[in-house]
Parts: sequence; structure tokens; C-alpha cells
Amino acid sequence: MEFGPSNSGILCPYCNEREVGSDDHIFLEAIGGRRTIRACKPCNDLFGHSFEGSAVATFFHPLMIQLRGVGVSVIDTGIKWKRAFVDDYGMVYNAVPEKDGYKFESTNVVVNRDKANPRTFLPVLGDDRVGRRQMKQFLDPSKFRLVSTEKRLVNVPQELKLDWGFSPDLRLTALKMAFAVGAIAFPDEVANFVEARKELTRPDLNVMPTSVAADLRDHAGLDSLRDALCHVIYAEQGDDCIHGFVQLFGAVQFWVRLAAQVSGRRTDALIAKLDPVTGAESFGSLPPLNLPPFREGMVDGLAPMRKLNAGAAHRGARTAEMLKVNEIRVDGVPLKAPPRPYWMSSWTGYVPKKRT
Ligand SMILES: [Zn+2]
Repeated sequence: MEFGPSNSGILCPYCNEREVGSDDHIFLEAIGGRRTIRACKPCNDLFGHSFEGSAVATFFHPLMIQLRGVGVSVIDTGIKWKRAFVDDYGMVYNAVPEKDGYKFESTNVVVNRDKANPRTFLPVLGDDRVGRRQMKQFLDPSKFRLVSTEKRLVNVPQELKLDWGFSPDLRLTALKMAFAVGAIAFPDEVANFVEARKELTRPDLNVMPTSVAADLRDHAGLDSLRDALCHVIYAEQGDDCIHGFVQLFGAVQFWVRLAAQVSGRRTDALIAKLDPVTGAESFGSLPPLNLPPFREGMVDGLAPMRKLNAGAAHRGARTAEMLKVNEIRVDGVPLKAPPRPYWMSSWTGYVPKKRT
């Protein structure tokens, strides 16, 4: 069986049931991935709409914004940290990249009604591109009569809360990445990726997949093959299993069990790398590193944060500002929101009576 270019009769490696009919990005397109693997459309759509979309929204894009905030110029792949914060008026802001870092964009209009005078409203809009576009609906005097305008400084929180963990959506995303690279490296074994296939094609975001483990060990051999902060997918055939290792931002590491047993001869391992700073993506084979399979044991729970901070410092972060994750501070002061003031306009007006 082959997983090469489009041909009818070739089975999707993920489900091993349907014929291929689409191209699935191995590294998510939303983080700059370009290389694809042929897969069936139902699998491709399922991954995107369930765990991948969720992992991008809760982990990848917020962390890319945070890295830009501390001075690491990660590539702009259409990054958007949705709901980065909500201000005192109930206005929701996204954080989006700008030249040297990031900025906020308002996303909604908050309309308050005057209790004493129900025809009087207080629409609150952000003084930015999005707010100005939304303002147009208040310019029609037959619908809204302006009484007063006001500009207020938004109370931007000093720290943005980046809240992620080794959650099921992130684990399933790592599983998908390792599965794809494993399928390219070991096409004759992909039918044996039984448990991994089950969890991947019936994703449950409320359950921790059992073929993926948060791997807090140091794999120096693997680390030495990449630059700081790089995403890595590595798959190798061990003595009695095929397993994968996924490193996100060079810090958050997963171990993935692909096949509990192997039938064929030992072949080369495959490594895929994506540099979030340069955008460079590469795939290459190499003799197996013979990394140890996952085993429960004593680990340093802060290791990912330390690696993230060290990686960020290595790739140009201002050393005085370090990342803070899940309320845990690792060396240095936490990330601050952009220092420049942020304004929002509020317009008071009323809806005129309809002429009869
Ligand atoms: Zn499929």
C-alpha cells in the first residue's frame, strides 16, 4: 500500500477505510505547516473541526502572540488570540500581530439601555479598525440619534492569562502529527496503528487519549537536532513498537504509541521540523535514535516552562520579560500587555419614534 500522490484506490492512512481525496497538513497550516499527506476528506474535516481547531485557539495562537509580546518575531500565520481579554464594559478583545509584537482589536458592540429612559442607549465601540466599521450602523439618523460622544481609556489588564495544559485537544493534535509522520516513514506498518487510529478517528475532547503521554523527560539526542522553539515530529521503529515524539515550541513534549508491535524489518526514522521564527519546514530520514518508550516516573513538572523560556531567550526575547503559564512564573517578571494606551468610544443616543 502506498500513501503517495493522488490515485484512486489508495486508502486514507488515518481511517484505513476510505479512499484518499484531500490533502491534510502534517504541521497545522495555522502554525505555518506546508507539507501535506493524502487523506480522506471526512478524516481531514473531522480533525480540523474538532481537536485541531481547538488546539490552535487555546494553545498555538495565544502562545505565538505571547512570544511576539516578549520580542520573539514568530511568523504571522494569521495568528489571532481570540478573547484575549474582556474589559469592564463587557467588550471582548482579540490579540493580533502587528509589526513588533501584537495589538488588541475589539470584536463587539456593547449596547447598554438607560433604565430611566428606555429609548436612550449607550453603544460602546472600540476606537480601532473593527470598532469604526461597526460604528456605521449608528450613523443612520432614522435609526439612531446621537446625543453625546465620549472617549475612555480601556483598562487593559497588566497580564494576559495564558491558560493551557496537556489537554485532550492538544494530545490528539500531537497524535495526528505523529501518525502522519509515522505513516510516511512506515507505510507497511500503518495498518498496525490500531489503538492510535481508534482514538484519532473517534476523537473525544473530554477523555485523555491513552496512546499519547505528556513526556516531561529530556531527550537530548532529539533536542540537538533542532533549533530552540522549533516544532518537531519524530517517528522511529524500536525493538518492539513504533512510536513518535512531538515537541511543540521545543518545550511541550508528547510521546505517542503508534504500533504496539512491528512486523517488518527495522528501517530509518523520520524527523519533521518547523521553525516558528523563520517558517522553515523540513523533513528528513535518519538512523533511529532509539529513544526510550514512555514510562511513568518522577518528572520535573516545570520543565516545559523552563524550556519555553530558555528557548524564547535564545530566539531573541527581551530577557527581562518572561513567559508566564498557568499562573506559574518561571524566572523573571511576567509578560506585560502592550504599554500604549487603548481607547474606546462610547456614543449615547436614542432611537427616534417612527412616524405613522
Ligand atoms: Zn480517513
